[in-house]
Parts: sequence; structure tokens; C-alpha cells
Amino acid sequence: MLRKVLYIDLSKGESWIVERQDLFEEWMGGTGVGIRLLQEECPTGTDPLSPQSPIIFSIGPLNGIFPVATKTVATFKSPLTGELGESYAGGRLSLALRFAGHEAVVIRGKAERPVYISINNGDVKIKDATSIWGIDAQTTGVILRDRETGVGRRSIIRIGPAGENLVRYACVVVDTYRHFGRLGLGAVFGSKRLKALVISGTETVEVPDPKRYREVYNRLYATTVKTDVMEKYHDIGTSVNINVLNWLKGLPTKNFQLSAFAEAEKISGEMFAEMYLIRRFSCAGCPIGCVHIAALKSAYSTHHEFEVRKVSYDYEPIYSLGSNLGIESAEGILQLIDVCERTGLDVMSAGVVLSWATEALDKGLITPADTLNVSLKWNDVDGYTKALENIAKSSNEFYSALARGADYAAAKYGGIEFAMTLGKNEVSGYHTGPASIVGQLVGVRHSHLDNAGYSIDQKAAKKPMDAEAMVNEIIKEDNSRGVFNSLVGCLFARGVYTEDNIIDALGAVGITKSKDDLQDLGKRIFDEKYKFKVQEGFDLTHAHIPRRFYETVSTLGTVTPETVDEMLRLYRKKRGWS
Ligand code: SF4
Repeated sequence: MLRKVLYIDLSKGESWIVERQDLFEEWMGGTGVGIRLLQEECPTGTDPLSPQSPIIFSIGPLNGIFPVATKTVATFKSPLTGELGESYAGGRLSLALRFAGHEAVVIRGKAERPVYISINNGDVKIKDATSIWGIDAQTTGVILRDRETGVGRRSIIRIGPAGENLVRYACVVVDTYRHFGRLGLGAVFGSKRLKALVISGTETVEVPDPKRYREVYNRLYATTVKTDVMEKYHDIGTSVNINVLNWLKGLPTKNFQLSAFAEAEKISGEMFAEMYLIRRFSCAGCPIGCVHIAALKSAYSTHHEFEVRKVSYDYEPIYSLGSNLGIESAEGILQLIDVCERTGLDVMSAGVVLSWATEALDKGLITPADTLNVSLKWNDVDGYTKALENIAKSSNEFYSALARGADYAAAKYGGIEFAMTLGKNEVSGYHTGPASIVGQLVGVRHSHLDNAGYSIDQKAAKKPMDAEAMVNEIIKEDNSRGVFNSLVGCLFARGVYTEDNIIDALGAVGITKSKDDLQDLGKRIFDEKYKFKVQEGFDLTHAHIPRRFYETVSTLGTVTPETVDEMLRLYRKKRGWS
């Protein structure tokens, strides 16, 4: 398999392909290759929204070849945190890249006018996007599907108005209902006047030993569909966790003022499934179908005229735009998700920013004049709808501050103790205990998915663990996820891709690795990412932890600063950091 990087320079209007066998051999693919390319392309101190700031997409050696190896990783400098930006998306993108023959794409520069990039195998065209600039992300997808009629496996990724207006947590919408959600890739697109990418491929992939490949493929496929390893993702989906976390007192509610929501039943996964679920679908190459789609019916005239919009949902948006804003109806949450989908906002950051603003207004840190008289009150779906639209447009000084994230807004207006961020990234939906806090703080992208601290807390709720055992688990997950993310599999399939199965799957595509090789790779990837983070100013010893985490009871009881400090001390020691 030839392993190539496609380079595109928007300032010069040029593209070229380079064989980088060395790079892929040493760093496997996906996130390993992504971080190395970022180090090559992004000099220290680069403004994330400047032409010099690169966008890197990469896939791994199993994408498009084995089941549930469906993701693509985007690596960039985050305009939200000012350091490592890393985001994963499914859909059809990794398949399209595989069959177009590019394991990585690097985009540099800035176009003179709005453009989109059309990639068909080795043919790259930079096309005018003036007529679709300003159009919402969903409609942009519809227009480009008609306009770009190329053959092959195709993926369309694009931004909405939030990305164009440089909202620091704007997302990139991938195909239908998938996203590069976190850390502001959409704003980096906007800064380059890049509205979209359309990628299609017709190449074929050859494996060295088809018989061995078929044997391994069949085994992984059977584990995926015939065991219960992935069952929960298909049935109710991740939103099944709303009730579970509510019972465990780990469901953030009203900006983490509470960890259980009295109205959780009304917004539970079971309620969505009973009342609103109309279909499920899958990323290309996945037999699970965990993407849950609801029908949202809204009236547009008084004469019983209705529009039905299809909105995808899962646990995180139900937390961020639901319990965390005190929203008591599934329909209200779907309405808010739909606004984010159209404008191109990351649902998690958007919800946490609004929950900070709600409290800030209530405490008098901001005024109705700041909000343009939009009422920000718990459970006020219409008020929050207007506020999201104002953020996407950066309508005034206050909404421009919100568009830069909760940390920035709190630094300007006050209320840093309840601006729920870790590493400047708005936090995900878990108040389970100290491992969740420490895990997100030390994680390379400050995400719950870096090391699943929330899951470590839940294990500790069943069988107590001390601080050292928790830190050991966090480090083990940090490193092993680096390996899995270099393959770029769906994290829901971690139970399918055991270490032995990874080695077998790699062997079937001609890559020989031992367990020691994989463990070494995971550690090296983590170290490279931290090197980049520190170079760009991240300092774990001075990282801010909102006081609210210590005030609200969690699944494991009240978390104390002493416990978190001790875990951070142990973490630094075990990593060998002074
Ligand atoms: S489990 Fe869900 S997110 Fe993962 S690949 Fe399948 S459909 Fe996509």
C-alpha cells in the first residue's frame, strides 16, 4: 500500500502529492501521523486563524478495510484553547480518503475569496464558493451534492455561518449528522475562506494475503454483530446514559449546580426512543447504526402547516443543551440541536457557554442590554434559540465574547468559578468524581474521550479505588487510545479491537507489530502531543479548575481540591515530569 500525503496551498492555488512511507511506518497513521505533520507545519506561536495555521486530516491503515474503522482525525491548532486541536468524525470521509488514495491531507494558506475544494482521486480543484458563503451547513450539503456529481465513494464536509464568523468552537459538519465538533476546526476553515471539501475516490485497495484478510475480517465482524460488545450503541444509544447518570448523581444540571435533574425522565434516551426516534444509520463501514435520528415537527403557519426536520441526538447534546440548561422537553432539546446543526456550532461548547451566561445574567454580571434583551433562563428554549443564533453571528460585543468560549467570557465579565471548562475547553457531561475532572484536565484535547475518566469514577463507585489506581488507569487509557486513534477506529469498538485483534488486523494488511511496539507507539504519540501543547503555552501546574466542581456533590460524593491535587501530583510523577 502506497502511503501518501496530499498537500493543498490555498494562497497559491496549488496542490501536490508526496509519498511519506517513513512517516506512516514510524507513526502508523491517524493521530500519530497527524501530530507529526502538525509539528512540521505549524511553527511555535502560530495564530490559529492565520494563513500559516494548517489543517490536517489523516486516516489509518485499517480505515475502509475493516469493520468500524470509520473515523478520520483532524489535527490543527485550536482557536479555542490556543494549543492542540484534535477532533474525530465518522460518516463517509475515511472511506472517501482511502479510495481517493490519500492517507493524509494538509491544507495551508488562505484563499482570496470563498472557495471549496473538490478532490477526486489525484485530481484537486479549488472552486469558487461565493454563492454558498453565508448559507447554513445543511443547505450547503444539499447544494454541493447536486453540484459535484463525481463518481466513487464520496464525502462532503462543510461549515455554517458560525465557522465563517470565526466562532472559536464552530464545528465542521461531515456528510449527514456527523461532525468534527470540538475545539473550533470550523473557525480555522472560516479563516481560510474555505467553505467545504468534497472528496471522492474510485481506487482499489489490495491486501497482501486475501485469505488471511478474510479470516480476520470475518472474526472482527462477528464480534461486532454477534456479541453484546456493541449492542447498547444500537438500541437506545448513548442517550441511555441520561437515566443512568441521573441515578448515579453524575448528570450535570443547570451549569453543574446540581448533579441530578428532577425532569430527567422527560429527556431520557428511553423517552426519545419512544416518542421521537424514526431511524438509525451508520458511518460507512460500520454494521452497528448508533446514529439516532428523531423527527422534529414544527408549525410554520396557523393552518396546520408543518415542517418535519430530522435531527440526530445522543448523550452529549442532551446533557449540554438539555439538563445543563434545565430543558424539560425532548422537543426543546431537538430544537436547540437543530440550531447548532444549521449554524455549525459545537453543541457541547455552545451549551456550556449558555449555561455560564444564564448564571452570569442571574447574578448581575451581565445585563439585558448585553443579551439584546434575550431572556436567558433555565428551560427557556426560545431564548436559548435566539442566543445561539446571536453567537453564530457574533451579534454584539457580548455575543462576540461568548463566541470565544466560556473561559474568555468569564475573564471579561466575571464568574470564572462557574465557567465550566478544563484546559479552556467546555467540559463534557459527567460529574462522576475526581477521575473525570483530572482525566479531562490532563487529556491531550481536554475531552472525556482522551482517557474516559468518567468511566473510571463509575468503576470506583462499584469497587473503591485510591488516587494512585485512578491515575494508573488514566495513563493506561491515554496511551492505548493513542494507538487506537492512529488506526482511526470508532472508540465504541474498543471492545472489538483488543490488542491481539489489532495485531492480527495490521498483519492482514502487511504491517507487523508486537504488543511492545504498540505500547511504545502509544506513549510516543502522547509525548509528541504534550510537546506541542507545552510549546504552545499549556501549563498543567497552573491550569484552572472551576470551584463549582468542588461545590456540587458527584457520583463519588463531594470531590475535594486535595484529592485532585494529589492525583495531579501522582500523574506528573508517573509521567516523569518535574
Ligand atoms: S458505532 Fe456509531 S459512531 Fe461508531 S462507526 Fe458505528 S455508526 Fe459510526
